[in-house]
Formats: sequence, C-alpha cells, structure tokens
Amino acid sequence: MVKKINNPLKIDYRNGIIEDRLLQVRNFKNVNTPRLINVWGIEIEPRESKKVIELIRSDFQKNDPISLRHLKRIRKNVQTSTLEVVLCSREYISDKDDMDKKLKSFWGGAKEYRLRDDIKVPEFAPSTKELNNAWSIEYWPLIWNGNPNDQILNDYKINIEEVRNELSRVSALSMKMTAAGKLFPIASVFVDSSRRRKRVVVEDGRNCENSLPIDHSVMVGIRTVGERLRDDEDEDSSAYLCLDYDVYLTHEPCSMCSMALIHSRVRRVVFLAEMQRTGSLKITSGDGYCMNDSKQLNSTYQAFQWIGKEYPVGPVDQDVCC
Ligand SMILES: [Zn+2]
Repeated sequence: MVKKINNPLKIDYRNGIIEDRLLQVRNFKNVNTPRLINVWGIEIEPRESKKVIELIRSDFQKNDPISLRHLKRIRKNVQTSTLEVVLCSREYISDKDDMDKKLKSFWGGAKEYRLRDDIKVPEFAPSTKELNNAWSIEYWPLIWNGNPNDQILNDYKINIEEVRNELSRVSALSMKMTAAGKLFPIASVFVDSSRRRKRVVVEDGRNCENSLPIDHSVMVGIRTVGERLRDDEDEDSSAYLCLDYDVYLTHEPCSMCSMALIHSRVRRVVFLAEMQRTGSLKITSGDGYCMNDSKQLNSTYQAFQWIGKEYPVGPVDQDVCC
C-alpha cells in the first residue's frame, strides 16, 4: 500500500480516472446503499471496557475476515448506563456456544455478561461524510476516514505502458477485421499477468462459418485459455480458468460474457468502446447491471474504460452483444 502522495500514477480521485485515461467502472449505487451484516455484541459496565478492548485487539481485529475498522467499537446505552461493544462478525464466529466459550475463557469463567446477537451494522463505509453521519445515527456509529474508494483507487497496481500495448494490439486487430469486411470486428486479449504465460489474442467467433451465436470474443478467449491449460501438463486443471488474468477488449462485454469473466476469476477488464444498449459493466449501459461489481455475486473484478481516442475500434451495431 503506497501513500497517496507517493503513488506514481496520476489519479483523479473525484472522477475515478487514472492517468487521464482509465475510467474506473464501479457500481456506486451499491456503495451508498447500506448492506447490513450481523455481528456479535456485548453489554458491559464502563469499567470493563479496557479489558474488552484487549480481547478485540488480541483476537477479533486480527482474525475476523470482515474488516470492521470503519465502526466505532463502543457506544453508550444512555438508558442503562452500560456500554454496547461490537466484538466480531458472525462470519468469524457463527455459533453462540463457540462465542460463549471464547468469552468464558477470556474472563476465566466467573464473569456475567450479556451477549447480544441482535446488532446489525453496515458492512462498509459510504462514500460521503453526510451519509456516514446518517448511517451512524440509523445503524451504528461509524468512523469517517474519507471516501473508501480513494483507497481502492490508490491500491490499483497498473502498468500503464502494458495497458497501452495490449489496447493497441486489440485495436489494430479490430481495424484489420473491419478492413477485411468482417461483421463483428470485436477482439480480446487475455494476459496472465502473474505467471507470464503467453498471451491469448482472439477475434469474435461469429465471423466464421459454422460458428455458434454465443461465440463472442470473450467466450472464445476463455475457451482458448482453457484449452491451453488442458494441454499443459504442469498446470492444475481444476483451478479457475483465468485466475488473475487481465483482459483487454475492444467493446464493453454483454451480460453473458461479463458473467463468464466472473466465473473464470479474471482480475481486471479494460475495454475501449462502451455498448450503451448491450453492455453489462457501466451503470449507464444496458440494464445497469455493473456485473463486475455486484454484491449479489460471489466474486468481482476490476473494470476500466479507456477514455482516450488513441485506440480506434471497428464499428458494431449498438444492438449487438459483444
Ligand atoms: Zn458477449
């Protein structure tokens, strides 16, 4: 994690644009809708707060898979003059007996406490201070550390030269396909950034005779990566097909392709042309699925649109699914 000031990338935090070219594609509607999760809480006398904080620091803060750092751990109950403390998420400890056991061993068994299983808190902080204040009143007191998306933008590891190279590759292929009179000048490049295997460059299968209607360039790309894995004896074929791949596309993918990219666990997608009617990544495209950043799905990937004019793509009818 680099400090904002030391980040070599130029980042426009307000508009989510990196190096004046890469527009971050996220579902900010999601971010500002509170997703409430169940946590374990405890009610204690004020004099016991130091001891409980010790437990939180030594165990829960380190081991809880859900970060609760955006929460104030303690709030006062004015009616009972007690303190209510958030201990950990129910994802970390789901069973009440396990929680009881942990607390009993911490207090040596003698202590009476009131365990609370009815506390719900927002899973993440919202993007504005105003919402942060509103959620603090409505749900549970939150700490305002600035827009959490600033940290996300700051943490992206992006080699802008590599992005330019790959986009120039898909762009050139798309223009070549247009010149050859192909109906679907849509292309993809799949790059395994972590393991340095050779890249996969494919064009849309629908240009070929005997193709299937679902042979979109992304589907052909995933299939090609899969075939390569199958042929490579050193590879674990049970692994996700495109784990940690970066994918460069001439056109914003449709819902089928966006979903297939989730299933194959790519790390990042960068596309050139948006598809206002059939795209599935931008909130303004298609039905506004923002498929790469959906809380309903079990996985997400980073997505960016290149907003410069350097890499042209062949024309595709707005009703075509890419
Ligand atoms: Zn598609």
